[in-house]
Amino acid sequence: MPTFVRIDRSLLAVLLFASLSACGGGSTPTGPGPVGYELEVRWLGTEPTAATQLSFDRAVARIRSIVTGGLSPVNLPANFNLEQCDASLAGFEDVPAELVHGLIIYALVEDIDGPGNVLGSAGPCLVRDTDRSKPALGIMRLDAADLATFPQARLDQLILHETLHVIGFGTVWSDESNDLLSGVGTDDARFLGTAARDACRDQNGGVVTCANTVPVHSEDGVGSAYSHWRESTFGNELMTPFLQAGAAPLSAMSMRALQDMGYQVNASSADAYVVAAGLRAEDASATTPAIALPEPTRPRYKLGPSGTLVPFGDNR
Ligand SMILES: [Zn+2]
Repeated sequence: MPTFVRIDRSLLAVLLFASLSACGGGSTPTGPGPVGYELEVRWLGTEPTAATQLSFDRAVARIRSIVTGGLSPVNLPANFNLEQCDASLAGFEDVPAELVHGLIIYALVEDIDGPGNVLGSAGPCLVRDTDRSKPALGIMRLDAADLATFPQARLDQLILHETLHVIGFGTVWSDESNDLLSGVGTDDARFLGTAARDACRDQNGGVVTCANTVPVHSEDGVGSAYSHWRESTFGNELMTPFLQAGAAPLSAMSMRALQDMGYQVNASSADAYVVAAGLRAEDASATTPAIALPEPTRPRYKLGPSGTLVPFGDNR
């Protein structure tokens, strides 16, 4: 039977530091301040390739540099099985009933359908019923055959994009405690967060594009729609639903969307990004290879402080 095999190295470093600090004999603390957002990846089944592992390490480090504040701790319920997140995950051992300060991602690289077609899936499973539905436990599944075809830079883009969905980007926006979308069900959905809007305005061309709100992708299936920036407007930005050839910058707009969700954010590491002054040419994506990213999955349960589960529902 597959077992959980690994704790992310960056968290180990934090835990190690905490342990060493606790044994410090009462001397003046000299290390970093309070631990910020904790993000841990645990592997289901066999460990991934070194390249995939490196991409996860980079994604975790990047997000922990962006999200600077901790969350309210929450207890995972006793006897919780990942099957309750996704029926096809039956057979793994129960998740430990532990206190989670940030987010735990259970990740699985598996054979799905060979190269092409389905690339995987990712999203939160358990979200806090306080703290604006910030995820506590999420799932990421990736097709080994597809990953094997990606160079490192592409893997980095894919896994950072998916990790952002698991921490809530596009997956808890319409929860009533966030209420960050308008126009759901129409072809002109908008993100209502003012920090992301202002960041978009600050990017050359964004003054017109984001005069009031940020355009959200409104087509291409129930997962891709209403969970990403609009492809036809934002092109190669990382949090659009397609990866274009070349770079996929993570802009200040995406980082500030996390701020609009209530995370404490440092956007100083934002990649350079320019909003196209007008709509991109209709055939722009047809002339460059584009990869359709997995449709993010929605949360299954809200999790109370004592581990109680309530089915997740929102206004979508
Ligand atoms: Zn996505």
